[in-house]
Amino acid sequence: MDFIKIILHDTSFNFALEIIFRCIIMFILIIIFLRFSGKRGVRQLSLFELAIILSLGSAAGDPMFNDDIPIVQALIVFAVIILLYRFTTYLIMKSDTFETMLEGRPMYIVKEGLLIVEDIKQEKYSYDEFFAELRQNKIEHLGQVKSALLETDGCLSVIPYAKDNIKWGLPIFPDHYQKAKRFDSKTYYSCMLCGQTQFISSLNAQCPRCKCERWAESAFYCESNSIQPSD
Ligand SMILES: [Zn+2]
Repeated sequence: MDFIKIILHDTSFNFALEIIFRCIIMFILIIIFLRFSGKRGVRQLSLFELAIILSLGSAAGDPMFNDDIPIVQALIVFAVIILLYRFTTYLIMKSDTFETMLEGRPMYIVKEGLLIVEDIKQEKYSYDEFFAELRQNKIEHLGQVKSALLETDGCLSVIPYAKDNIKWGLPIFPDHYQKAKRFDSKTYYSCMLCGQTQFISSLNAQCPRCKCERWAESAFYCESNSIQPSD
């Protein structure tokens, strides 16, 4: 075993400088690419933190199985990434604009029982994914939801209505989130795209909010708080 080769190999001062430069470029690229992917971070991790972990992981990975990559180069990568991390955290603390640029801002998905369609599209957040999360929060239909926000760490915050304020709303369980088959002028229907809930003139009526023409029968009763539908 040649210890000099393991630690240093042929690392020149120039190549060390090149590594610093490559790190900065790659670090910026990772953040930009993640930010542009439109996806939120892994649970509890902001994109920025994920970028740190990916960079560290990748720098840690290469010297493990490449016999011509000395450990000192990975150490330089680590040092640069940690310094960038410290510096970026400092900037985030100092500037709200910078923080929003880097981590995004919390986004309303539901307001007053209605879906904010533009924001959902912008976040590339699928209805399936979103409904699943609401169901995990013991929500059965959107009439129960005062507001739901997608946080910057990818978590969903749900603020339900108090029992007495629950309204008719779009059902989110697969059995009920379905195009209505029977029409009744005294039944509430909910737009399947935006959650708009109202009486409609026919099953092909256009939603006044989003112009969609798909209606599901609205839900009111929910098991979790045992409210009976009222007439
Ligand atoms: Zn609609």
